[in-house]
Amino acid sequence: MSIETLIQDPSIPAESGGMASIPYDAAGFDDAVMKTYGRFPLALERGDGCRVWDTEGREYLDFVAGIATCTLGHAHPALVESVTRQIQTLHHVSNLYYIPVQAQLAKWLIGHSSAERVFFCNSGAEANEGAIKLARKYGHKVLKIDEPIILTANASFHGRTLATITATGQPKYQKDFSPLVPGFQYVPYNDVNGIEAAITESDSGDFGVAAILLEPLQGEGGVRPGDIAYFKRVREICDETGILLMLDEVQVGMGRSGKYWGYENLGIEPDVFTSAKGLGGGVPIGALMCKKFCDVFQPGDHASTFGGNPLACAAALSVCETLEKENLLQNVQQRGEQLREGLRAIAAKYPNCFTEVRGWGLINGMELNADTDITSADVVKAAIDQGLLLVPAGPKVIRFVPPLIVTAAEVQTALQALEQAMASVMP
Ligand SMILES: *Cc1c(COP(=O)(O)O)cnc(C)c1O
Repeated sequence: MSIETLIQDPSIPAESGGMASIPYDAAGFDDAVMKTYGRFPLALERGDGCRVWDTEGREYLDFVAGIATCTLGHAHPALVESVTRQIQTLHHVSNLYYIPVQAQLAKWLIGHSSAERVFFCNSGAEANEGAIKLARKYGHKVLKIDEPIILTANASFHGRTLATITATGQPKYQKDFSPLVPGFQYVPYNDVNGIEAAITESDSGDFGVAAILLEPLQGEGGVRPGDIAYFKRVREICDETGILLMLDEVQVGMGRSGKYWGYENLGIEPDVFTSAKGLGGGVPIGALMCKKFCDVFQPGDHASTFGGNPLACAAALSVCETLEKENLLQNVQQRGEQLREGLRAIAAKYPNCFTEVRGWGLINGMELNADTDITSADVVKAAIDQGLLLVPAGPKVIRFVPPLIVTAAEVQTALQALEQAMASVMP
């Protein structure tokens, strides 16, 4: 980046209250890059652990972690070492050949979950696409359904490809992209009656439910944990009917919930589950994992050029091994409790403003009262001014998803910054 681009462009208006300046050439960025994101006015340049620095040299505590992705924070020595070593040795070949580090990663995942087999891809949406294809073939071949239906939940999020925006039970992601993919039906989350009614209704003629796809905790939908009794009943229904239970662990998996997988908080095991975000610690990789019916896919049924390449697998393997070696699950549980306790104390100071603090491990949400004028984006902007990066989960939920290596002191600093941010947004 040239020095020129670092100099503030006077044509850019300073937005968001206390923000002193917008140093980065945001207009130049927007001229070149499609406007698919509403961006906060800062450009990050460097990171170390749970801290990042912008192009002006300002330091931030990163409680976003690339949206629940940088499991080990930034520039973690284990990740740096594994990626450096692998790119110097062999970074990409095709899945036409055996890739030893891919098997090492698959064996780690199988050894630390209920899965028996893994397929690697590059993202959460792609992992869910694989699950959707697997469910359909399973529906045709095993359940003998001509038009298999997949049930998903209202307020869910499963990705941005055509099939996964269709699976996503939020009209805002679907509008303007019709025709959507057929074969999906929506049910209320954490509601057994909804699932039972949908299965009965759709079981007619050529149609039938082949799979139920759910998040163990809804992330984008507002950090809403699954209900144990609900998931146990859904598991029973699937056992009775042969319907596949498929869980989207893209955001909540890989240790973020304080257990390796979100479903471990619910006392059930899925037939199929997907992972991405935290799996590679920021290096793109996704995985589709299955317990039963892993042989539904035969050679030629599904593929990916990049999926499971040596570079991505080496990165993910170092993330997995570091989770274990540094005993990070315990840290996630302890820091999560500390964080929720602190958030509840802040919420108690503004009883008219907040309704609830909820979450598991290091995926937590703080919900604003629907009646207040303050939005989650207002709080996130005020927190940026206090040197803390947060991300909304919908218009009324502030989300906290720091790296899993976060320390007690960093949680304390984040809570203080949030307190100051709240003082500045309150009228
Ligand atoms: C982020 C997310 C996805 C999509 O992952 P991408 O890597 O962006 O495709 C899917 N499901 C859940 C639960 C997610 O949080």
